[in-house]
Amino acid sequence: MKRLNGIRLPLRKKTEDKPVAALPLPQYVRIPMLMHRGTPCVPTVEPDDYVTVGQVIGKPADDMAVPIHASVSGTVTAIADYTLPDGNVVPCIEIESDGNQTVSRSCRPPQLNNRADLINAAKESGCVGCSGSGYLTYQKFAASDKFTMLIVNGAESEPYLTADCRLMVETPDDVIGGIALIMKLLKIKEARIGIQTDKPAAIRLMSDAAEKQKGISVIPLPPLYPQGAEKVMIFHTCGVIVPEGKTSADCGILELNVGTCAFLYRYSQTGIPLTERVVTVAGSAVGSPANLRVPVGTPVTDLLDECSCDYDKMHELLCGGPMMGQAIANAEDAVILRQQNALLARKGREFPEPSACMRCGACMRACPLNLMPTEIDRAFEQRDLRTLKQLHTGLCMNCGSCTYVCPAHRPLAETVTRAKAAIAQD
Ligand code: SF4
Ligand code: SF4
Repeated sequence: MKRLNGIRLPLRKKTEDKPVAALPLPQYVRIPMLMHRGTPCVPTVEPDDYVTVGQVIGKPADDMAVPIHASVSGTVTAIADYTLPDGNVVPCIEIESDGNQTVSRSCRPPQLNNRADLINAAKESGCVGCSGSGYLTYQKFAASDKFTMLIVNGAESEPYLTADCRLMVETPDDVIGGIALIMKLLKIKEARIGIQTDKPAAIRLMSDAAEKQKGISVIPLPPLYPQGAEKVMIFHTCGVIVPEGKTSADCGILELNVGTCAFLYRYSQTGIPLTERVVTVAGSAVGSPANLRVPVGTPVTDLLDECSCDYDKMHELLCGGPMMGQAIANAEDAVILRQQNALLARKGREFPEPSACMRCGACMRACPLNLMPTEIDRAFEQRDLRTLKQLHTGLCMNCGSCTYVCPAHRPLAETVTRAKAAIAQD
């Protein structure tokens, strides 16, 4: 099969052979009311309230949100505004842990008999895209009642990140259990799991687990970035091109991350909502990189301390991977979000000044969607919206590959994102 463009990045996956470890329980958590793509939740608790693990502490104001739950048991000490890495300012509930992790009596395994039950479970459990995207999983399920194929994304193509790899190696039956459950309730006959060949143990163990279920197969994929981007993953696993202006659901395809599938399986067994995360903590300023299991809302400094971060040398702190992660302005304020898969602390880097385009074409060869970033860059400089539309700027998925390869150090992905915003406002 023809393959879409991609780039080879240094993998730097030093934690891929390290088992996931539980971080000691934090003294307190701060839980933002926006940890998904959509609108903020409204707090349902007040200072001095006692809360238990899995209890709803934030309720959706509309359909563009799912509930937010307490990740520790203890006392609400404050509700105050908090700035997220993406710049949104939202209320944040601080809970002092009592150390007991008492689970809420409302946590019971859900009845899952049909499509409506699955959609409701994804909503009530606070399920969001576990690969950092934060999409509302229930909306993905609700987008079509005619899915013919489930594509499960186990690519994890960004450097450093290994949380999904460890999930597949340590709990392959949970991932397969979630896939089988979704297939049964949505009446999907076939599922394909895309895993890069730089994860041979994950491919082997997932293939073994998949053999026990009908209709599930593993597709090994070359380690090229951005293999995990939705449209790239769909094309490379089943050959379907999602046309411009259409969604994967329009093509009969449901695409989910391996972590989302594993979470839904566990929720079906326990009824405990999305209150904890496995996060890869890595980067050149981190002495002991690790994959840590932490309650949502844990201060990032707890993770950095645990992994021997050299704060004096830390120049850059990212929520997510090096290609698509967002900069964290202040480590003291930041907490782990429920959609967050990585925390990267890196030493100082040189950022060369951008120079004029030398027409080398590298950005166009790197773009998986065959866009022309250099032409978009030029059209945006001239605020030429007509040309920007003709160049299909809206297709960009902000993977950063064009910026990475540009020898003139032009911030192409950033420019394309701004160009998309300009088109949207037109
Ligand atoms: S950021 Fe956009 S334009 Fe650049 S390579 Fe990725 S998809 Fe193409
Ligand atoms: S990679 Fe950079 S220098 Fe080369 S064509 Fe694209 S914008 Fe120009």
